[in-house]
Amino acid sequence: IFDRIEETDGEIGSFVSLRKEKAIEEAKAVDYKIQNGETVGALAGIPVAIKDNMVSIGEPSQSASKILEGYEGIYDATVVKKLKDADAIIIGKTNMDEFAMGSTTTTSAYEKTTKNPWDLDRVPGGSSGGGATSVASNQCYISLGSDTGGSIRQPASFCGVVGLKPTYGRISRYGLMAFASSLDQIGPFAKTVKDVALALNTLAGVDDYDSTVEEVEVPNYLDYLTGDIKGMKIGVPKEYFIEGLNPGVKKVVDEALETFKSLGAEIVEISLPHTKYAAPTYYVLAPAEASSNLARFDGVRYGHRTKNASNIDELYTKSRSEGFGDEVKRRIMIGTYVLSAGFFDAYFKKAQKVRRLIKNDFDKAFEKVDIIFTPVTPGPAFRLDAKKTPVELYLEDIFTIPANLAGIPGISIPAGMTEGLPVGIQLLGKAFGEKDILKAGDAFE
Ligand code: GLN
Repeated sequence: IFDRIEETDGEIGSFVSLRKEKAIEEAKAVDYKIQNGETVGALAGIPVAIKDNMVSIGEPSQSASKILEGYEGIYDATVVKKLKDADAIIIGKTNMDEFAMGSTTTTSAYEKTTKNPWDLDRVPGGSSGGGATSVASNQCYISLGSDTGGSIRQPASFCGVVGLKPTYGRISRYGLMAFASSLDQIGPFAKTVKDVALALNTLAGVDDYDSTVEEVEVPNYLDYLTGDIKGMKIGVPKEYFIEGLNPGVKKVVDEALETFKSLGAEIVEISLPHTKYAAPTYYVLAPAEASSNLARFDGVRYGHRTKNASNIDELYTKSRSEGFGDEVKRRIMIGTYVLSAGFFDAYFKKAQKVRRLIKNDFDKAFEKVDIIFTPVTPGPAFRLDAKKTPVELYLEDIFTIPANLAGIPGISIPAGMTEGLPVGIQLLGKAFGEKDILKAGDAFE
């Protein structure tokens, strides 16, 4: 695996740090257990990469930000601990947009451009771009990303791999550096739905360190991959088939629907009327939460500290001005604005109400259908030099954001190609209905 990474990563740029020696040592220990007939965990010996915003003890964990330059984790994130307990081999950290804010992996403070393995002139998507490329280019079998508004599903679609954002409260966020705490979820990338299900078996479940994880039983997700989805009701929301949808993407999506029909699923037209408010709602709430979460980076406790401060105020402002990148600053500005006393009711409170309406849309739809089928993104991977404005980039997320606002699970599954680039489809499930979307996704593959 490390030879493969050495050969390919100069070009692809998935990794920001590797733990080669430790990984090899751990792999030998797992092998020793196997040789001696000891029982091993469900992911024994499997190389797994994790996103740079998940902490691991004694290892660089920087959320691709200059403000955390030189920072090393002082404990293991729960997902890291669970992977280790399952005898997986963590091989390193992957590149991302700074603090997971973005859809391109180009706002990383690391001097490294992560490229789409299908076309090196194109973005891998983001913010978990390195996680998607590491799996797509056979540098590892499973990787972990985080998804606040699409950061697992969109890069999965752009890079032709499977990516799952679980239900809010399915996987512990302890040790995940917070972007927007009410929206963030960790989830796996892999080449197949089966491997994603296997990873979820290990990652899901209660944690004493994260009270937002629900006490819902973790089934063996592999048990649901029977290939039989006869009679399953799949809802297709008309609001997701907008004019701006790229024709190549539309074709792949239409064909995928035909496949579901031929598998015996029943296609039902549904309506999610508040869909058009999802992106504006998200871009009020996510920055609001981010501005509060990022207040802890003050130049005193972690990472970068300015060298030219003559008093405490300057220490804060200069450390933050030097440490945060442009996109992060933009989010902090938006967030503090919408939370400020004069605008709180008009923006933040209003957005919370719209969030509820969006969730209600899904609740209503799931009275009629088992899962929901949509495109993942309006178009395939765009060029690295596309120079999209921030607002254009925010609109890329229109199909992925609703699931985060509603807290429901979503999966992106490769479904075809357009112009030599992969295109995914998205399946959304009821809260804790991962089994349904995994089952349908596996039957589709
Ligand atoms: N692209 C979205 C944003 O920039 C989503 C990011 C994410 O899911 N972490 O906020």
